[in-house]
Amino acid sequence: MKKVLTLLGLALAVLIACKSQEESLEKVVKTEAQWKEQLSADEYAVLRQKGTERAYTGEFHDSKKPGTYLCKACQLPVFDAETKFDSGTGWPSFYQPVKDKYVISLPDTTYGMTRTEIVCARCDSHLGHVFNDGPEPTGLRYCINSLSLDFKAD
Ligand SMILES: [Zn+2]
Repeated sequence: MKKVLTLLGLALAVLIACKSQEESLEKVVKTEAQWKEQLSADEYAVLRQKGTERAYTGEFHDSKKPGTYLCKACQLPVFDAETKFDSGTGWPSFYQPVKDKYVISLPDTTYGMTRTEIVCARCDSHLGHVFNDGPEPTGLRYCINSLSLDFKAD
């Protein structure tokens, strides 16, 4: 009996531990005026108007510090520094998001190109694009604007 109780306790502890890592994906909805107030002009242009920062100008493109990258608009943890790699493009690049469901892929045919846009699953802010020329294990390259990210060091 004692063994069963210990097992039950362990299962519960694991369940609670897992739950605390799960972020709410309940939509964050704000008016454009509210976003403008919260973000700098450059951040607003990228996150809310799908702009792209100039290559090599961002804060994180060559950062190798361990930690977590958050959506700058709503603080959802979208990328882990462990999955960051040097793509040589001048933008922070990752081969996978923290969780697949934390980012949403959308078709983007602007500028005469067919690309896949990546937005935050919680606040729909523009993060960057994903391409099929990344490294193993996923073969994907999430090309993300530094302006779309906040960094939390480990
Ligand atoms: Zn967000």
